[in-house]
Amino acid sequence: MQIINPATEEIISTLEEDNRASLQTKFEKLKQAQPAWAGKSLRDRASILSTFNELLETEIENLAQVLTSEVGKPLQQSRNEINGASARIKWMLGNAEKYLTDEVMVDEPGLKEIIKYEPLGVVCNISAWNYPYLVGVNVFIPALLSGNAVVYKPSEYASLTGLQIEKLLKKAGIPDEIFQVAIGAKETGAALLEMNFDGYFFTGSYKTGKYIYEKVASKMVPCQLELGGKDPLYIAEDVADVANAAIGTADGAFYNNGQSCCSVERIYVHEKNYDDYLKAFVSEVQSWKSGLPTTDGVYLGSLTRKDQLIVLENQVKDALNKGAKLLCGGKAVEGKGYFFEPTILTDVTNDMLVMQEESFGPIIGIMKVKDDEEALKMMQDTDYGLTASVYTSEQSRAEKILSQLDSGSGYWNCCDRVSAALPWSGRKYSGIGATLSHQGMRAFTKPKGYHLRG
Ligand code: NAD
Repeated sequence: MQIINPATEEIISTLEEDNRASLQTKFEKLKQAQPAWAGKSLRDRASILSTFNELLETEIENLAQVLTSEVGKPLQQSRNEINGASARIKWMLGNAEKYLTDEVMVDEPGLKEIIKYEPLGVVCNISAWNYPYLVGVNVFIPALLSGNAVVYKPSEYASLTGLQIEKLLKKAGIPDEIFQVAIGAKETGAALLEMNFDGYFFTGSYKTGKYIYEKVASKMVPCQLELGGKDPLYIAEDVADVANAAIGTADGAFYNNGQSCCSVERIYVHEKNYDDYLKAFVSEVQSWKSGLPTTDGVYLGSLTRKDQLIVLENQVKDALNKGAKLLCGGKAVEGKGYFFEPTILTDVTNDMLVMQEESFGPIIGIMKVKDDEEALKMMQDTDYGLTASVYTSEQSRAEKILSQLDSGSGYWNCCDRVSAALPWSGRKYSGIGATLSHQGMRAFTKPKGYHLRG
């Protein structure tokens, strides 16, 4: 498998892909070794993972370079990602005792009732490329902490990073038979679905997630899906500092070139603020530097996948055919690398692809609305349910709107944000189950209720 730098189109590495036989050998190795790993104390496992975290911190420059070379995000954003992952790991390690040790629910004369959190066994993590550290640690850290063995399949667009992660985990002391990387694309993922893992944890698109969910259903094991979104954001008329809101929300839409599962993907602005908001938003977007992701000060690097350029151009074409106005951008940049101009569309309607299908790129549709009711109706109009955001000076107003939206996260005066302490979960086409928070820590365990008389 060739690894291509998406910003230069150079081949930077060639890797050998796994096949059914190599995957089966890895799986059997893990199956055999997992009980001994689960038999270690939680403290011992946490200590190894803490060393892994220290290695992330000390080797950040090299790791960031590798990440940028294969996904095209600006170097500073790669560093931010690794620092973010490290903070998450600290939260998980700090809360492991609280959420993974036995819970005594009843303790009275003659009766004790206890919940024990047993590991699932050997779990399979099929992952995405857009934040390989962040979405990776959401799964493999709590999985390993709670005593599971893991097969981690990085995306074919983030394989070098997957191998770096494996190297550092082993360097930190994770036994070879407890964590294995599966290299390859769709075929490798499909082969993993044929095997008998004790749980499947997937991050990626709705299309693949649905396929995986159906495929593993008959195995009767947990299958968790973290999928895409079409996340809406509403700017009400009482926002105190519209220019500031425009700057923050532009970042929410365009950070990582819009390739975040929780990127702002649709913006609805109250008519009273519309002109001011738009002016500040366009000016912010036009102030950003695009170019090679290794150049200092670049905010927009290349996209990761070449195919996405066509998806974005189709969204622009469809929107313009249906009456939208193009304020800036609208096409791929000529020359080497998968670059797309930052694109803003107005006069959009919810029947346009750009307002319905996940864009996953530097493109945004902005619509004028007359009141909260219209904004809510527009925001609700989606098959996805990852996040939603409301900017207003009144918390109760924001909460009223957010409570009527079927999404896993709700934001008041912020957007494109993930917290280790809160469940990260999608609804409808955005997924099933949760990572992060106590729910995400326990997602890799099977609770057993002990009824103890005596
Ligand atoms: P993708 O669905 O194309 O691929 C994801 C993974 O699935 C890759 O490792 C791929 O090799 C594997 N795969 C592809 N086909 C498969 C098959 N038939 N069987 C088994 N495995 C298969 O997604 P992507 O392009 O890597 O990631 C982008 C998507 O991920 C976006 O939709 C984004 O919103 C979503 N995402 C969601 C979250 C979240 O937390 N909700 C986080 C990051 C990304």
